[in-house]
Amino acid sequence: MEIRKGIGVSPGIAIARCMVIDSKDYRIPRRSILDSQRAKEILRVRRAFAIAIKDLTDLSERKHFEEGKIKDIFAVHMRFLRDKTFRKRIMDFIDKERVTAEYAVSTILREIASHFEGIDDPYISERAADIYDIERRLLVHLLGKVKEEVEHLREEVVIMAHDLTPTQTASFNRTFVKGFATEAGGRTSHTAIISKTMGIPAVVALGDMTSGINSESIVIIDGNRGVVVIDPDEETLKQYRNYAQQVSLFVHQLDELRDKPAVTRDEVKVQLLGNIEFPEESAMVRDKGGEGIGLYRTEFLYLYGGTEPTEEDHYQAYAQAVKVFPHEPVVIRTMDLGADKLPQTIRQTPEANPVLGLRSIRYCLQNLGLFKTQLRAILRASVLGDVRVMFPLITNLQELRQAKMILRDVMEDLDEYAAPYNAKIPVGIMIETPSSALTSNYLATESDFFSIGTNDLIQYTLAVDRGNEHVSTLFSAAEPAIVRILRSVIHDAGKAGIGLSICGEVASDPEYIMLLLGMGVRTLSLAPPMIPEIKKIIRSVSIEDCNMLARRVATLDSQRQIKNLLRDAASQILPGQL
Ligand code: PEP
Ligand code: MG
Repeated sequence: MEIRKGIGVSPGIAIARCMVIDSKDYRIPRRSILDSQRAKEILRVRRAFAIAIKDLTDLSERKHFEEGKIKDIFAVHMRFLRDKTFRKRIMDFIDKERVTAEYAVSTILREIASHFEGIDDPYISERAADIYDIERRLLVHLLGKVKEEVEHLREEVVIMAHDLTPTQTASFNRTFVKGFATEAGGRTSHTAIISKTMGIPAVVALGDMTSGINSESIVIIDGNRGVVVIDPDEETLKQYRNYAQQVSLFVHQLDELRDKPAVTRDEVKVQLLGNIEFPEESAMVRDKGGEGIGLYRTEFLYLYGGTEPTEEDHYQAYAQAVKVFPHEPVVIRTMDLGADKLPQTIRQTPEANPVLGLRSIRYCLQNLGLFKTQLRAILRASVLGDVRVMFPLITNLQELRQAKMILRDVMEDLDEYAAPYNAKIPVGIMIETPSSALTSNYLATESDFFSIGTNDLIQYTLAVDRGNEHVSTLFSAAEPAIVRILRSVIHDAGKAGIGLSICGEVASDPEYIMLLLGMGVRTLSLAPPMIPEIKKIIRSVSIEDCNMLARRVATLDSQRQIKNLLRDAASQILPGQL
């Protein structure tokens, strides 16, 4: 039995056989296998070689490759693939070290490549590139098989991986994927956010999971406490099965709150909205008692489809969400592409610092065709209900004015076709950079509402990558700087009399709800499965107590003190559940 501590990013308990997968873009982590699995892994290596040789033969027979340099390169690759000593070295490695086929292939080929790279003869050192190419060729087959298995699951599993892209996570079949755990990632990485929306228990930032994991292992994922147990003993399994029952009972009880209002004990109403990535999730928001959509992350239309969505694709998706909430707010955020959310189809030159690069509204303002297509669809959908448009990652007034100017251009286009739209559509912005937070008084004069994206706001204010497990303990909304910056934005929105909501992950963190209410927040937008628990907290507190707590927090100068105070306050509301 092995117990690992990471960050619980999506609550719940999952117990199932594990399936280890990897993205081919990442290094292949070392994974141990059982003695009995060695023959199977060796067979996988043989098959991968056979398929690679066949692919290469087919490719080199194509007419335009018959002559010249490419043909020579293929011949070199073929010689390596047919070299028995080279293959034997990989198989011996599996046999001796008891590791997976992909790890053996990657390790041995990289050893050879770096040996070549070190030789002071350009002809030989250039061969290293061929070796990396062969490595990729073999890994495509080895990892492709696993991908296929994930797509055609027939039994319940928990997925374990170095990291998962948001698209991979979103494509999991919920019937069979019961939980997941990753070595990388942070509390607010997009993969973490999607797992929460999907209601799949997940733990990230586990660090190197090098030993003891094989696909026969039973794994417990405890998303509430951020713990993963590999090969649990009987006693631990029993305890966890009991705990899982208690958790599901608690969730069941919370569902009874569905039709009750989110009001505090002293009758102050709080609006609870849902964050969604796909339009189908609107129904879940409603079922969990949400009162509209506070953040529709539309970039998933691009990320998931593989091709650029048409205006009609956009329109249909928005219409579907509005159909569920015809009279409630549906806040459509224009696409927030870039950083970790960039589909291959529009990936341009790689950026050294993508989080600080051409992302989000900046990308849209430089790709007007794409932006206008989306805005047309949003405007067309605006007549179907209370649709609002929101621009992400605004850093200054000029950027907001530019985005609004494009919106007006699109309105004029629609006028030419006499297409109906709501000319008074509310236009809001996300406050998620220190720059916009520090100038929120100016931005408030030209915005209809603010939504504070604490995930990015914390990342940029504290200079802590939200998806990097090495700095994940530094990522905290309880830092005095974050509390101060939130307080100032909330104040500016209140003074300007515009709407304000919080749509980052703190809005679904039970420990922060009293503080947010005490600072004056009255609208929260969060992952749908978390709505009932947050409603329960709201219904259990009084605004007077929240105000008092917020005042005490304002006097504290360290993250630890603030965190402890919030934790104590929250545990008194839902004892034993947090
Ligand atoms: C945020 O940054 O807090 C936010 C809600 O947007 P996203 O997580 O999609 O970046
Ligand atoms: Mg953001």
